[in-house]
Order: sequence, then C-alpha cells, then structure tokens
Amino acid sequence: MSEPELQLPGHIHRLADKESFTFACQPGVPCFTECCRELELALSPYDVLRLSRQLAINGKELLDRYAVIEWEEEDVFPRIYLGMVDDGRASCPFVTPQGCSVYPGRPAACRTYPLGRGAWRDSSGGQQALYVLQREQHCKGFAEPVEQSVDQWVTGQGLIDYLAANDMMIPLLQHEKIRQDFQSTAAQRDLYLATLYDLENFRKDNQNSRGLTDLELMQSAVNRLLHLFFEDGVHPHD
Ligand code: SF4
Ligand code: SF4
Repeated sequence: MSEPELQLPGHIHRLADKESFTFACQPGVPCFTECCRELELALSPYDVLRLSRQLAINGKELLDRYAVIEWEEEDVFPRIYLGMVDDGRASCPFVTPQGCSVYPGRPAACRTYPLGRGAWRDSSGGQQALYVLQREQHCKGFAEPVEQSVDQWVTGQGLIDYLAANDMMIPLLQHEKIRQDFQSTAAQRDLYLATLYDLENFRKDNQNSRGLTDLELMQSAVNRLLHLFFEDGVHPHD
C-alpha cells in the first residue's frame, strides 16, 4: 500500500519528520479532564491487556463491563470501543475530578493526544507511519510553553510498546485476502475477540505462551489468527 493521501480538516496538521510542537497537559490547565468525555475511544488488544491488568480483571470482564462491541456487515472484524457513562456528559468511566483513575493503564488514544498516528504496510512489506497534530480549540494545552518532538512525546507517554503491539495487527487487519473480499464467519469474529481481547486467557490456554513477554504474547496471538483465518486448508467452524 502506498502512503495514504490525506484530506485533513483545518485544525489537523501533518507533522514533518523531526518537526516539534508546543504542548503540555497537567492538572493546572483550565480544561483539565474536559477531553475525557463524548469520546469514540477505540480499544486495541494491547489497550485491553494493560487496562484490564490495571483494573485487576480479565479481558473478557473488561469487555463485558466497559466496552461497546460493534460489527457491521461490511466489517471483517468487530470494533471495540470504551463505553461512556450515561451521566448527561457522556464521561469516560475512569475520569475523576482529580484526573484519570487508571492513568498507568490508560489506552493508547489517551496517551497519543494531541498527536494522531496512521500506520500502513508499503509495497515492499515494510511498515510506515505518519503523525498529525490535532489542535482542538477547547484544549488549552497548546498554550503551555513546552516544546518537544514526536519521539519525546511517544517515549514520555509510555507509548512505545502500545505502538509496537498495534503495528503487529497490521498484517491481520490489512491482509491481502481482506482486500480480496474475505468475509469472516461469526465463529471467526468470536475467536478474534476471545484470542486478542483476552490475552492472559490465551496465555493460560497455550502452554508455549507461559514465559512470553506481553509483546511476544501479542505476536503469538496474531500469528495464531493469521494461520487460522488465512492459511489454506484451515477453517474454523461456523
Ligand atoms: S483538553 Fe487538552 S489540556 Fe485540557 S485536559 Fe484535555 S488534553 Fe489536557
Ligand atoms: S482512560 Fe483516563 S485519560 Fe482516557 S479518557 Fe478515560 S479518564 Fe481520560
């Protein structure tokens, strides 16, 4: 796939390599936690692993209690979102007046803002990524005089493992058979959720996964699905 052509709204700006930006978010800002509401916050498998660990529950319990699972006919795999609370402000279930109650396990989207990241495979199979800066009007963090690079932001927000894990999903989500009109079965969609969105359970069920790091576990789960979904002769039951 070649680099996507971007039609960006006025408040979103593509960052050039090494371009820095000025931003900081801390409890003193007048808009503190205002961005933790009315969100369409997609959860990746690694988000669910880290967030469920922070909440001391398993991935399935997290999905049952906190997630909205959507699947439309044109989708191959389900999409998972963090459900907002019905409090008149559509707040994140984890926001408090003091800030984020799950901060060490917060999802990648919360860590990435005000940046946005797109990743894809190029025609030679290499992975590419680009960053944009989302300058939302309500966000006063842009008035804070802290200049930094994308690399500094990614490191400071603890994003490196999240990005590595999310990039592992690209061969599955952008598989060439999907571009050739692969249709998933209900059993495959259930398997996708049970495998990737409950990684500790996948670890328990697979003896070879016991000593793996989180990223190795994630890769092992993705490889398993690539094999079951796309290798000829393997057909998970309906
Ligand atoms: S709106 Fe911006 S500055 Fe305000 S809390 Fe959210 S990220 Fe921080
Ligand atoms: S998880 Fe934390 S940082 Fe993310 S939206 Fe919820 S309260 Fe805000």
